[in-house]
This record gives sequence, structure tokens and C-alpha cells, in this order.
Amino acid sequence: MSNNLFSKLPSMEKLLHKMQSHFPDVPTLLLKDKINIYLEHIRQKIKTGSIGEQNLKSATFENHLKDFLYHKLQPNFKKVINGTGVIIHTNLGRSLLAKQAIKAVTLACNNYSNLEFNLETGQRGSRYAHVEELLCLITGAQAALVVNNNAAAVLIVLETLAKNKEVIVSRGELVEIGGSFRIPDVMAKSGAILKEIGTTNRTHLKDYKQAINENTAALMKVHTSNYRILGFYKSVSLSQLASLAKEHHLPLIEDMGSGNLLSFAQVSKNNNFLKDFDEPTVQESIRAGVDVISFSGDKLLGGPQAGIIVGQKKFIDQIKTNPLNRAVRIDKMTLAALEATLRLYLDLEKALTEIPTLKMIFISPSTLKNRATKLAHKLKQLPDISAKTCRSTSKIGGGSLPETTLPTYLVQIKIKNLTPEQIRKKLLQANPPIIGRIENDIFCLDVRCLLSSDLPIIVKIFKSIIRLDN
Ligand SMILES: *Cc1c(COP(=O)(O)O)cnc(C)c1O
Repeated sequence: MSNNLFSKLPSMEKLLHKMQSHFPDVPTLLLKDKINIYLEHIRQKIKTGSIGEQNLKSATFENHLKDFLYHKLQPNFKKVINGTGVIIHTNLGRSLLAKQAIKAVTLACNNYSNLEFNLETGQRGSRYAHVEELLCLITGAQAALVVNNNAAAVLIVLETLAKNKEVIVSRGELVEIGGSFRIPDVMAKSGAILKEIGTTNRTHLKDYKQAINENTAALMKVHTSNYRILGFYKSVSLSQLASLAKEHHLPLIEDMGSGNLLSFAQVSKNNNFLKDFDEPTVQESIRAGVDVISFSGDKLLGGPQAGIIVGQKKFIDQIKTNPLNRAVRIDKMTLAALEATLRLYLDLEKALTEIPTLKMIFISPSTLKNRATKLAHKLKQLPDISAKTCRSTSKIGGGSLPETTLPTYLVQIKIKNLTPEQIRKKLLQANPPIIGRIENDIFCLDVRCLLSSDLPIIVKIFKSIIRLDN
């Protein structure tokens, strides 16, 4: 009997003709390939008896094929709606760029530029010049350079200053962050020799002192960005380490992880909803006497993916001329975005209102409440959907401020006859996909990272979900 169904399948020729009218810009070869995949998928279903004759009727079949092609022909890389509430979500692309940065990127790719051209001399220039002055002005450092990301920054700093020599690090700071970046492994790759000291919870100045020998190249501090050690704990302050390093003519290097350029304590003083909210700044590290500091561009800083290295000129110059630097070189779009983002930091108010990451951190609970109420109200009007708001907390993410949670509002959404898990899956398949979270066994959208243009799209997608479901 099922053989009978095989003969009911429409012909490739007919389907191709039909689909060409729906997707006129898609090359025939690609279209044919995708239709074949769909036909094969249907043949399997016929074999297992999981498809009925009514599904093979011309109009129904073509509609399903059209939906299938519509999804398959989309570019792989796409926008998603971030309803997780995690601001610096590494899997969702970390920081969004400020509009000034987006404009600079567009300019950089639409035109030739003075990327490595000195307009005063008409000779070759330095690609770092565009951001070095700004970075020095903002952080108080003598010199700066930028590479592909902070992992590359740590690698090149160690390779330049400590290859085949020892670097002293506290056992409390041997960090692993997501994506298999581990301090001991990066150290090994750079050729530097890790000299572990102290214990997981306590490291003293004397531990550093005792470890220094003729083969020591540097002291290193790693910001424990994604965890905190609480209780019986001791670490050595940056300024104490800086004095010790100076005494022994050794550089003190620091992997700061998230590149924070503003005093959170100061900003959050005016926002009583943010308590105990602090994160060390690059400026503080420079003032404490750290010689070389590296940090990410797309975490708390809120710029493009980049690894920023600031510090003493004599060390930065050495890193700049390391051949490895060519392999981890920053590209022009990143450079353009970074310059535009850094310029915003010259005026704190501007940084707080224009840089999306900072805006999302400091957004007031009352604004979030309004946003959640508005979305819940719109969703509630759809049949079979119940939506209400509730308080919860969001995380900053990106391995920043692991202990800090921000008060937020969620929209809890239920759809008749669907489990929270089924809702979650359907939203992942939507266009654009919506990523939410399940809390207390209810599907929720945290409104913190939603853009104003996302709200009508979310409503439209929920509308299509209930339509398809019935
Ligand atoms: C995030 C982080 C890194 C890696 O930075 P990328 O920019 O993602 O390469 C390195 N060290 C620490 C402590 C971090 O938090």
C-alpha cells in the first residue's frame, strides 16, 4: 500500500518549476539540491508509514516544501532575539555595538581608509595609532596595542616577555573560562613556564618572594572573572605585587578578563537597586603599577571582539614587534568600531547612554517593568496564550561580576496544550529565533536585552505559533 504513496509524489520537474516562482533569486542547482533533500525526507516517512495520503496533495505538499525551503535557504548566521536576560552572552555574540561604532564599521568597509597610512608623511603608518592615543588617555597607560581577542593578548604577552622562563601565578587564579581557555594551557602554548604558588584559597606576599629566582620572567595576576573564592581567603594586592616586581626588575602582568573602564561603584551610587556592585577598572591597575594589562573589547567595555593590551611603553614596544603579532592582527572593521566605542568613554554620560552593554546593565527596574507589562499585555490578547509579569534577576555574563545579579522583570508565557519545553523548541525554530529561559517550570522571556524593535516581532512569532499549532 505504501508503494502506492510513492507514485503520488510530485515530480522534481513540477516542484522545481513551482519553487522557482517562489524563490526567483536562488540558483537552480541549489534549489534542486534542497528539494531533493525534502523528497528524500518524505520518502523515508512513507517507508515508515508516518505520512498519510492527504499530506501528498499538491497544495499541501507545496506549502510544506515552501516552508522547508524558506528555512533551508536562509543564511546560517542570523539575528536572534535575546530573551535570556544575560547581557554579555558569549554564545549570542556578546556586546552589541553603539550606533556610532556601527557607522564607523560601515565607513571602514565601504571605503579605502588610512588604516596603515600616515596622512602627514604620506608614508606607511601604524594601524594601532587610531586607538593607542585614546586608550592611553582613558586608562593612563604609556602605550597600547590591540589584537584579535584577549586569549591572543595573553598568549602574545607571555610569549614576548616570558618564553622559556618562569611566570609566577597564585593557585587561586588558575582560571578556566568557557571555550577551553585555561591559564596553565595558554601559558604552556606561549612557551612560558608556569610557577604555581600559594594554595587555592590563600596566597601571601612571601609565596611570591620565595618563588623568584634567576629564571623568573614575570609576576602575573589573573582576574578571577567568573568565580569568587569566599571565606578563609587571602590574595596579594596589586600594589604590593607591583612593588615586589619593581624591586626585582620584573614586569607585573595582569589578565583582567573583562575590560572595565568605568567605576561601577560610582555609577551605581545613584542607582540604589545596584548594591555591592563593583568591578576593578583598568585605570586602577595602571595606577597600582601593573606593567602590562590585557582585557577583552567585547565584554564589559561594550565594543567589538578584541584583545587590548596597555602598559609600559618598553614592554608594549616589544610585543608590537613580535612576529606573532602579525598572526593575531586586528582587522579594520574592528579597529573602526573600537575607536568609535572608546571615544564614547571620553564622556561618561555618553558612554552610559550610547553603549548598549552599559545601558542594559544600568537600565532601571521601572523601565523593565513597563517593558514587561507592555509585552505581556500584547501577548495576552492572543487566543490560547496566557502571559504575566514577575520579578526575577538577570546576570551580566561574559565571566563578569559572577556574584552580581540585577533585578529584572520576566514575562511568563503559557500556551494551551504546549509544555514549556515545547514552547522553547518552537521559538528556536522561529524566524528570527527567540531564546528564552524556563524558570519554575514556566517559559519566560527576560525583557532586559530586548530591543524596542523586538517587541512586535515577538508578538508576531507567538501569533504564528498558535496558528500553526491549531
Ligand atoms: C574572557 C576572558 C579571557 C578571554 O578573552 P577573549 O576576549 O574571549 O579571548 C581571558 N581571560 C579571562 C580572565 C577572561 O575572563
